[in-house]
Amino acid sequence: MRIAGLLLALAIGLILVPPAIFLTRVWLRDGAQALPVPPAGANDVSRMSPGQTAEVVKLAEDPARAEEQIVALVRSARERRLPVAISGARHSMGGHTLSPGGVVLDMSGFDRMGLDESTRILTVGAGALWSQVIPFLDRRGLSVAVMQANNDFTVGGSLSVNCHGWQNDTPPISSTVESFRLVTASGEVVRCSRSENVELFSLALGGYGLFGVILDARLRVVPNDLYRAEAHTVDAVDYDRTYHELTGAGQEVGLAYGRVNVAHDGFLEKSIVTILRKVNPAGGPVPFAAPRPNALKRLVFRGQVGSAYGKSLRWRLERLVGETGGGLVSRNTLLNEPSDFFASRDADATDVLQEYFVPVARLGDFLGRARLVLLRHRPDLLNVTLRNVEADTDTVLRYAREEVFGVVMLLHQKLDAAAEAGMASLTRELIDAALACGGRYYLPYRPHATREQFLASYPESRVFFERKRLYDPEGVFQNQFFARYGGSPGAAP
Ligand SMILES: Cc1cc2nc3c(=O)[nH]c(=O)nc-3n(C[C@H](O)[C@H](O)[C@H](O)COP(=O)(O)OP(=O)(O)OC[C@H]3O[C@@H](n4cnc5c(N)ncnc54)[C@H](O)[C@@H]3O)c2cc1C
Repeated sequence: MRIAGLLLALAIGLILVPPAIFLTRVWLRDGAQALPVPPAGANDVSRMSPGQTAEVVKLAEDPARAEEQIVALVRSARERRLPVAISGARHSMGGHTLSPGGVVLDMSGFDRMGLDESTRILTVGAGALWSQVIPFLDRRGLSVAVMQANNDFTVGGSLSVNCHGWQNDTPPISSTVESFRLVTASGEVVRCSRSENVELFSLALGGYGLFGVILDARLRVVPNDLYRAEAHTVDAVDYDRTYHELTGAGQEVGLAYGRVNVAHDGFLEKSIVTILRKVNPAGGPVPFAAPRPNALKRLVFRGQVGSAYGKSLRWRLERLVGETGGGLVSRNTLLNEPSDFFASRDADATDVLQEYFVPVARLGDFLGRARLVLLRHRPDLLNVTLRNVEADTDTVLRYAREEVFGVVMLLHQKLDAAAEAGMASLTRELIDAALACGGRYYLPYRPHATREQFLASYPESRVFFERKRLYDPEGVFQNQFFARYGGSPGAAP
């Protein structure tokens, strides 16, 4: 018995000691504090879009006064021929909130909220962060219908990229919008919905701030349910089939997402489908946990940087315990996690996101092509998440023309020209892979796509920019995304 006990202790020691030493090393080299997102007008979260802004406009605390300020700013910028860029939380990564030599309107603090309980419609200021919206709704037993997988974005920024997240059975956030108020390029305040200013509704949602300033929006919200997570490991080529079997008709699924293995063994070939099934609580309120950083989870995640062992450790742990450990968790608790819990704290490097959308039946094909590209370039790929998005019938510049899987990649890169050139060339090959599968790439990230790739991905952009010239002939609303892709075809980028 004693020998068996000793052998067991030895075996456990042999299993636990190497990761413990590894994670201690990661802890020692990890920065003590999160790097703040650069201030409005200076840069964005990528720290690779420096802006030479003439002026940053902060809004008054009083919402009525702030609204007058926005209208006056737009009118005067139009007269002075000064371009206006709009800044939310600056988590877009390609200068979308910056316009060189122009004015940056900082929407932070424009965050008034109200709820019509009878219709379950939330009216919310465009500068509100989801981290403010979620606790507000939680107190009323409700939750956001569609948002990103993290909470540190503004409502205005989310509407302007037309975000999506772990919601498995819906189109992007635009589908949850009843209406919004917009300050147009002429300084008028108009209401846009599916029956009023219909064209502006479909242009400003997913419109990257190029059609006006969204003041506030009326969003449909949903009950805050309790979920239990279940994880299924499958070959990536079977993800589509398994995902649809697990989320099909009649199943009470609240959220769902996938992870793809980025470790050496089975690179991009194995995946985990995580399903968050609704559980009926036996009465009583659904518990809500304020976001709390989990130091061990962070170390396991950051330990992947530059380390094949770290990537393999994370994959093994994720398969073993899943993300939520299988316990009960509320929708609001899941949605309320800030992205900076896992973000890089290295001042000389950054994490960049990319996302490719492919028709559901082409997911295996895309992953196979992407695998070959990634094996050739060997970037420091930290994470691949899969999301499902239903067809978007609301916006012009749409990324989901039909039901798609979004393949989200998080890559670590140095902040230098060589790393940026390498990332540009990798990104272009991945975009080609998505195009070959009938897909496209997501626009809020680094602007590495060539103009040809942009047009091939978004043929609707011809209409989008033609209408931009009609609604905003003086070019009041501008940003680096518009400067790069909005010129007439043939113009230099
Ligand atoms: C770590 C991380 C995780 C992410 N996860 C997801 C995800 O799960 N799903 C997803 O879809 N996206 C995701 N994104 C992308 C994210 O949704 C976008 O970058 C989004 O724009 C962030 O909101 P923001 O407030 O930071 O917007 P900003 O970056 O500040 O602005 C984005 C665009 O919206 C415009 N804009 C902002 N406010 C207004 C307004 N009031 N009126 C008009 N235009 C406005 C800006 O001019 C700009 O063009 C992620 C990004 C990061 C960095």
